[in-house]
Amino acid sequence: MNSFNNPIFLLKVLKSYFFEINRLRRLNDEKLRKYQDKRLRKMVKFAYTVPLYHDKYKKEGVHPEDIRGISDINKLPMISKHDFKKYYPDGIVSSKVNKNKLIEITTSGTTGKSLSIYVDMFDIIAGLFGYVRSIREHGIDWRKDKITIIADFAPHTVESGYIHKGIQPRFSSKLFFKNLQWLNTNDPPEKVIEQINKFKPVFIGGYVGMLGHLALLKEKGFGKDISPKVIATTGSPLTNSLKEFLIKSFDATIFQSYGSTESGSIAFECKNGNYHVMSDLVYLEYLKEGRPVESGEAGKILLTKLYGIGTPIIRYDAINDIVAPSKKTCSCGLSGELIDRIYGRDDISLYSPDGRVILPASFGEIFSKVLYELKTNKLKDAIIIQHSLKKIELQVVIDEKQRNIGPSVEKIFSVLRQGLKEKLGKNVEIITKEVKKIDREKPRVIQKLDMKKLKITGYA
Ligand SMILES: [Zn+2]
Repeated sequence: MNSFNNPIFLLKVLKSYFFEINRLRRLNDEKLRKYQDKRLRKMVKFAYTVPLYHDKYKKEGVHPEDIRGISDINKLPMISKHDFKKYYPDGIVSSKVNKNKLIEITTSGTTGKSLSIYVDMFDIIAGLFGYVRSIREHGIDWRKDKITIIADFAPHTVESGYIHKGIQPRFSSKLFFKNLQWLNTNDPPEKVIEQINKFKPVFIGGYVGMLGHLALLKEKGFGKDISPKVIATTGSPLTNSLKEFLIKSFDATIFQSYGSTESGSIAFECKNGNYHVMSDLVYLEYLKEGRPVESGEAGKILLTKLYGIGTPIIRYDAINDIVAPSKKTCSCGLSGELIDRIYGRDDISLYSPDGRVILPASFGEIFSKVLYELKTNKLKDAIIIQHSLKKIELQVVIDEKQRNIGPSVEKIFSVLRQGLKEKLGKNVEIITKEVKKIDREKPRVIQKLDMKKLKITGYA
């Protein structure tokens, strides 16, 4: 029987909907911490039935009984991508769970290194609830309002796993998500904007790059009937100038949503513009050279997922995002931790000759200038190769249909070269090159530096 026709499954989903969606409003910080403690104990106990965790914990001499709550979390060893690969496939699921009932998902190819983990149907629902919660905080009712989600439906992605392999095959009624339009971010922006124009959503969620393209098309007179109240961006940090551009083009509220393949929703910006962690779903640690960072200081995140019966994620060190936590409080009424700033992934970074790390948020800034300053979306794809501290190569794909419209290719190159020089230093040689095609499975930044010899002095 398909899960969505199963009354017990449906009851479980509805029950969790009412309990989970409001948890960050229902529980105060103290109660939330107790809830986290309870969830962590459960997850560690469950992880002990998973060969990967069982072996790691045994080797470390730690037993589930030793973990009473979050304050004991650092007794547990960290888990790396390598651990998951080594134990894949049977060693990353619990001996108590029938693997055939789980759905395999693969992490995205932005870094070129893919990784498979398992989730169950309920995991997927809980992940979606996290998203529903964030849009509710901005006044959107997913049962009444029309919602457009522009997801990455390339065959290997998490969205394909969630929607095509997870939800759609189990869909028999229109009970759920009848106001929902799913679009593919790999389609041309011209096609996407036409579909949105017909649907007329109140809310649009999508990747930063695609939304930038749509904003530009809107400015050029496409999508006349599109007037959403709220837009949520995801994928990479939104730069201030691109945010302004989105607000101007769509006349909508913009907020950022932050998540990962491994865990689903992690955090989102509330109405006050503060980043709230979904503290009932995930627990984050922030480390710099192995020690926890201070409030406002950037560190690499260590992720623990507090729910699910698929592959457990406990002290996972391979999200590779640089994030600064915040000890400040927000007046919006949500409980849980706050994030000061999300810098982006450090495994797709560039390095300046003086040892500063240039994170994706910075070169996102450079590329978005082509959109909002030069007003063109003829730049179809790009890849950066760092040959040495003094030599960077930029390869771009130009949209043939637009080659002779708007600013010249050379003008675009010069804006990109100048932007990179501003970030990296004027003594760095920037080579720009036009190519026919870029392999999407490859990382967006190819790093040829010997990382062992590199001395990091800070973040730009
Ligand atoms: Zn808030």
